[in-house]
Parts: sequence; C-alpha cells; structure tokens
Amino acid sequence: MAAHCPICHDSGWVLVKVGEREIARPCSCRQSEAQTSLFTNANIPPRFHNMDLRGFKPEKEESLAKAKKAAEKFIADYPAVGGYGLLFQGATGVGKTRLLCCIGNQLIKEKNVDVVYIDWNDLTREMRSGEDAASRDFSNIGQLIQRLAMVELLLFDELGSSRPSPWVEDNIYFLINRRYNNNRITLFASNFFDNKVAGEETLSERIGARIRSRLYEMTRSVGIKGADYRQKYL
Ligand SMILES: [Zn+2]
Repeated sequence: MAAHCPICHDSGWVLVKVGEREIARPCSCRQSEAQTSLFTNANIPPRFHNMDLRGFKPEKEESLAKAKKAAEKFIADYPAVGGYGLLFQGATGVGKTRLLCCIGNQLIKEKNVDVVYIDWNDLTREMRSGEDAASRDFSNIGQLIQRLAMVELLLFDELGSSRPSPWVEDNIYFLINRRYNNNRITLFASNFFDNKVAGEETLSERIGARIRSRLYEMTRSVGIKGADYRQKYL
C-alpha cells in the first residue's frame, strides 16, 4: 500500500539532525493528542467528520460561493474576526450544516480551537426534559448548558427548526446572552429568513424577537439561495 505521507512514509516520525545527533520528532502529519481530544469533544455529526471547505463545491450558485468565501475568510481571520460570528440563512439542503462543520474541523486542525456543534432540536429536547420536571430543575443538563455557554466557538445549527415553548425560548436566550456577555463567538445556521417569504414564518417569529435581536449584535448574516429555494419562491 502506498504511503499517504511523503515525509515520514506513515511511520509518524521524522529524523532531524541536531548537531551531530539525529533525533526523532513527530511528523507534522500526526494529529496531536490535544487535537484528537478537541475532535472527540466537538460533537460534530459523523457524516461531516474530516470534511473541509476544499471539497465544498458551490457550482454556479453565486450566493453559495459567497457563503463559502465568508467561511474561508472567517477561518483565515480567526480569532481576529471583530467579535462577530456568522449567521447562515438558507433553505434546506443548500449545505449550511456542512459549512458549519467544515469551519469547525478546520479551526480545530489549523488553530486548535475548542469547538462544540449543537443542533437546535437536540438542545430543545434536552431542555424540555427539564421543563417537564415538577421542580423545573436544570441540573440534568446543567453541564451541557455550561459547556455550550463557555466553549470558545459554538456551532449552533437548525436555529428555530421547532417552535420553542416560552420556557425553552427563555433558556436559549440566556445561553446566547451569556455567550454575548462573555465575548464568545458563535456561528449559527437557520432555514428561516428575516423577510416574509411565501407565507413562511420569519426567523424572528420562530426564535423570538429577543433572540433575533441579540444575533444582530453577535453575527453577520450570510444569505444562501439554493436551487430548492429558487424553485420554490422565484
Ligand atoms: Zn508524516
């Protein structure tokens, strides 16, 4: 079998001359233990493991090409991103989850960033389990909330994909607001837009005006009009 790494031929080690001696150093192709643990803790869905933006082909869709550029720029500039995350807004199937996960993967690999991916449905389901309890005790998911609130970079997918109860909406607001107050950067993705289209609800109607208004202060919006979107609305 051919070796993948032309430097160490997959031994994982390279010999470096130091004065008269040759010493073995880990090859740059080896994922550091720290990175392995960052990937393990990132919760990125398995189908997006190991993906990066090089494989992301926007084809002829101009807004998708712009979204890819915005993602590339975010990775290149990070952490000097002016305090702003990104909010990808586009119809189902245009590749928003993939964009989020590629950014996460690359920032772990290139800059050792601590990243967590969370999906709105998974989070609201966890939160509802707290809501059902008579005491409304948050202790079950307290650790998760703490991690999501404090992680360096949060990837928050499918924003507004289900309607939150007032209690869940409150708790998501407090989570996002904690990140805002602590200058934590967050990347969001949502199927919902700010303008009223074809009788569908707006993002603000889905997640509440309070959360939407916080997002304006935390992110720059990147709209994506995929092929599905065109067929449906234009
Ligand atoms: Zn190597």
